[in-house]
Amino acid sequence: MITLDRVGKTYPGGVAALRDVSLTIEPGELVGIVGPSGSGKSTMLHLIGALDLPTSGAVTIAGHELSRLSDRRLSALRGRTIGFVFQQYHLAPGVPALDNVADGLLYAGVGLRERRRRAEQALHRVGLAHRRTNRPHQLSGGEKQRVAIARAVVGDPDLVLADEPTGSLDSRSGAQVMQLLLELNAGGTTVVVITHDREIAAGLPRRVEIRDGQVIR
Ligand code: ADP
Repeated sequence: MITLDRVGKTYPGGVAALRDVSLTIEPGELVGIVGPSGSGKSTMLHLIGALDLPTSGAVTIAGHELSRLSDRRLSALRGRTIGFVFQQYHLAPGVPALDNVADGLLYAGVGLRERRRRAEQALHRVGLAHRRTNRPHQLSGGEKQRVAIARAVVGDPDLVLADEPTGSLDSRSGAQVMQLLLELNAGGTTVVVITHDREIAAGLPRRVEIRDGQVIR
């Protein structure tokens, strides 16, 4: 699903955020990327999510080496293959939960009615069908993150990337969100979770520890 081959990422200004990282993640894995703040976790997730390109080495996602793809094909890869979950939810303000989720299908080329039908199912999967008309400000943090998960999975992506998905939640809501990610993985989706929460990391079957831009374990 994911191969990083001797990947380096140096930002303009000279910060080497990743150095010589090689890593393979197989389809169906559930992997935690763990490490302290500034170690390069988000940089790695941006590369895996085809949101950025490495400065050296090769990143291959679902058989596509990113540096060989045009911008248009990179966005298509993101839209069809990858679902994103962020710490701060990134829901559209003022937009009902159902349409926030339906927007996850803008790339699928299906009409509004079908987008809403699938969004309804996805909300049902995360236990929030009864909140479909609520706007984000009318939802708790945990509910917002569950809506964000519904949006990430509504297009049935092969890969879900979650960047500190429980970072803004109390422990009970955080546990619910992790449970959803575990269920998703049990259904066959490859899931990569960035976390600096040791307890959450301990519950994951595989952990990749990074420090100062390198995989240390
Ligand atoms: P983490 O997610 O583990 O906190 P990051 O990947 O965000 O780590 O950052 C790794 C290093 O790269 C840090 O030193 C950070 O300051 C630097 N960095 C991250 N993004 C940028 C950027 N867009 N421009 C310059 N430096 C950056």
